[in-house]
Amino acid sequence: MKAVSWQGTGKVKVSKVPDPELQSPENVIIKVTSTAICGSDLHLYDGYLNPMMKKGDILGHETMGEVVEVGKKVKKFKVGDRIVVPFTISCGTCFFCKKGLFSSCDQTNPNEKIARKAMGHAPAGLYGYSHLTGAYDGGQAQYLEVWHADVGPAKVPDDMPDEQVLFLSDIFPTGWMAAENTELEKGDTVAVWGCGPVGQFTIRSLRMMGAGRVIAIDEIPERLAMAKAGGAETIDFSKKKVAKTLDDMTEGRGPDRVVDAVGCEAEGNTIDSTLDKVKTTTKTGTDRAHALREAIYCCRMGGTVSVPGVYVGFPDMVPMGAAMNKGLTFRMGQTHVPRYIEPLLQLVEEGRIDPSFVVTHRVSIDEAPEMYRRFRDKEDGCIKVVLDPWH
Ligand code: NAD
Ligand code: ZN
Ligand code: ZN
Repeated sequence: MKAVSWQGTGKVKVSKVPDPELQSPENVIIKVTSTAICGSDLHLYDGYLNPMMKKGDILGHETMGEVVEVGKKVKKFKVGDRIVVPFTISCGTCFFCKKGLFSSCDQTNPNEKIARKAMGHAPAGLYGYSHLTGAYDGGQAQYLEVWHADVGPAKVPDDMPDEQVLFLSDIFPTGWMAAENTELEKGDTVAVWGCGPVGQFTIRSLRMMGAGRVIAIDEIPERLAMAKAGGAETIDFSKKKVAKTLDDMTEGRGPDRVVDAVGCEAEGNTIDSTLDKVKTTTKTGTDRAHALREAIYCCRMGGTVSVPGVYVGFPDMVPMGAAMNKGLTFRMGQTHVPRYIEPLLQLVEEGRIDPSFVVTHRVSIDEAPEMYRRFRDKEDGCIKVVLDPWH
């Protein structure tokens, strides 16, 4: 089959690799009909997890398709079903899965030792996301082996186009959980750093949950325009001082809740962000955490900091003094996708949201190398890329 694989920093390639074969009776194999490139894939592409990657690793964790082979123990699906697959792999029966903490499943990462050493404990395996999270083959391919099929994935209605349901695999639940994690009270003002796909779904989820005002921060005009279309006020951080602007907009208090939907590759024109760039380029630092620092600094006293943005190592200069003295609450994590997939599918079925709004590019999988570059460089109005493995 054709698959997109990691070849080193800034390099991916499409090549022929062996088709997957069922490795467990709890798994199914799908013929992938649509798969997307995520901001998290950029962290791999840009070299932020290099020690945990091997040349040839198949990428991709936002995937859906048609079931073509079913393991003997699978009850939920049969050949021919269309399913969408969470990026988190969860067993459904461990201590964490029973609590609904699916991305903390401690049974699905075969490289537990490495993860424990790096983080103290080993969270769930993830598709196409390095050897730290289990070295599972990813879904940017013509076929994908789906693990523990009865636990995470959901069957989708026949009449719904791929682009309306594909993002239930990751970014819609991620935006929703980021919004839930703000501990929103009706009427609150929430500031969201980052208007990439995750920021966009966070903004729309916050509106559906009853936020008073959502203020979105980015520097890319088309992303700010999409945020505005989703009901946000906007700040272009390349043109305005973010902290001062937010204070001016909130009677000097700051936003009630803040969301960092940027993660470890924040841009900025400040001293700390310049230092971050020097450190990450010279491998003396692991993350560029300017957005997180700014979000903490701007949040009103007693507010909540929600962090869907991915961090990979040891971001420094995080203003814990401000966080402690202002009495902030932190909530974060890889998304517990199986918790959200059915309820959010229902919102789509009811027509309350059409997730396809975020798609700017639908191309053949053959164009993946060029699309990774365009998505990273935010060229050509690129916000979300969907790859078609068969055309
Ligand atoms: P993306 O790269 O498309 O978007 C990031 C956006 O942040 C860009 O538009 C960029 O211009 C903007 N940005 C950069 N610096 C900024 C700053 N200082 N202030 C404000 N905005 C700034 O990525 P995405 O797909 O939207 O993902 C966003 C983050 O969420 C990534 O870190 C990704 O890894 C993470 N993510 C987490 C989960 C999860 O389970 N928690 C799931 C999916 C993605
Ligand atoms: Zn993702
Ligand atoms: Zn589990």
